[in-house]
Amino acid sequence: MSDEGRVYKIGMVSLGCPKNLVDSERILSQLRAEGYRMSDSYGEADLVLVNTCGFIDAAVEESLETIGEALAANGRVIVTGCLGARAEEVLRAHPEVLAVTGPHAYEEVMGLIHHHLPPPHAPHLELIPPQGVKLTPRHYAYLKISEGCNHGCTFCIIPQLRGRLVSRPIGEVMLEAERLVESGVRELLVIAQDTPAYGLDLKYRPDFWKGRPLHTRILDLAKALGEFHAWVRLHYVYPYPQVDELIPLMNQELILPYLDMPLQHASPSLLQAMKRPAATEKVLERIAGWRRECPDLTLRSTFIVGFPGETERDFEILLDFLREARLDRVGCFTYSAVAGAAANALPDAVPEAVKEERYARFMEVQAGISREKLAAKVGSKMIVLVDAVEEEAIIARGPGDAPEIDGNVILPPEWDLEPGDFVEVEITGSDEHDLFAEPAVV
Ligand code: SF4
Repeated sequence: MSDEGRVYKIGMVSLGCPKNLVDSERILSQLRAEGYRMSDSYGEADLVLVNTCGFIDAAVEESLETIGEALAANGRVIVTGCLGARAEEVLRAHPEVLAVTGPHAYEEVMGLIHHHLPPPHAPHLELIPPQGVKLTPRHYAYLKISEGCNHGCTFCIIPQLRGRLVSRPIGEVMLEAERLVESGVRELLVIAQDTPAYGLDLKYRPDFWKGRPLHTRILDLAKALGEFHAWVRLHYVYPYPQVDELIPLMNQELILPYLDMPLQHASPSLLQAMKRPAATEKVLERIAGWRRECPDLTLRSTFIVGFPGETERDFEILLDFLREARLDRVGCFTYSAVAGAAANALPDAVPEAVKEERYARFMEVQAGISREKLAAKVGSKMIVLVDAVEEEAIIARGPGDAPEIDGNVILPPEWDLEPGDFVEVEITGSDEHDLFAEPAVV
């Protein structure tokens, strides 16, 4: 059932109480973050998810009827929610459903959807890390604000796959964020293919949230999200001039002092071949300005090495950029062709062995920079968010660490902490990825 590159549509019906609605929102957020589309009609969906209620007889009846309607109109139905806890009852009435799961079974539901409709997969284009395909822990969540992209980077098939930029109205995004925070989310990870472009397609149209007018654009959204007192982390922020306006919000602690900016390369000719903006000098200037204004800013980026036509000179330019920019967190991919991408037709493919050799040199340069930058934090204090409590250590993250892709702040196991707790720590050690800390003595 896996058509490579196809974007599947999911229909969803949510019945019952507000708790069920929060579960549905959580599943919807995850589906959006992973690139699935939602469908308003049974007929157009590739699969329908019915989140049921089983509280009273009338609710059971309504749930069974809804499952029957979805089966008649679509045929591929997964049942979840309270009535799902009584699977025999559902299966007796509708033996043809694909699966039945109980309430709050987010992970199980996502696993079933992945099984029946695999998410589109392209190694260097994914908005969330591959590990993120399992549902995120309850204390952080991805918040997808738009879909599609107006650029035409030659290594990328997102515009063909998902179309041009389509932003979600700001009122809808705020409502989803509010529900997530109410259900225990402490960190919102804002994602889109091009985050600063948010609202461009809607001409930054005003919308309402709680009776308040807000423009559908990144500055208004970042400010409004900051009011939830959760961590707000922005991903896929291209270094456009409007990003300058976001830096003061970091100093006001409305959003985290963190920018994830996929730069991909630094050589002007390579950036041109990739059809990316080729103003590396401007990027360095802009970074320097942001750091002057917000010294705590953590910058993350990703790069591609071994793109067709990349010469040793291009690669040296990239290494020089790394040394000068001194980014805090960096990911690197060796170029691999994505079916349907324009770059596949470019001449001068780089041999695999050269790609691997450049990758190793790139990572070595960055490892030295990361090690030095993390070592400079030893002795400082910071607020961290606890991700997991394990037998041997407590795994937390600071403002400069996005889950799954950056490092951790590791605490000794004896402290009484739970996932989702914020705690102030003192940094006592570092290596090239992680920091080590003790809770700060007040
Ligand atoms: S900006 Fe480029 S890489 Fe990113 S989604 Fe758009 S076309 Fe793809």
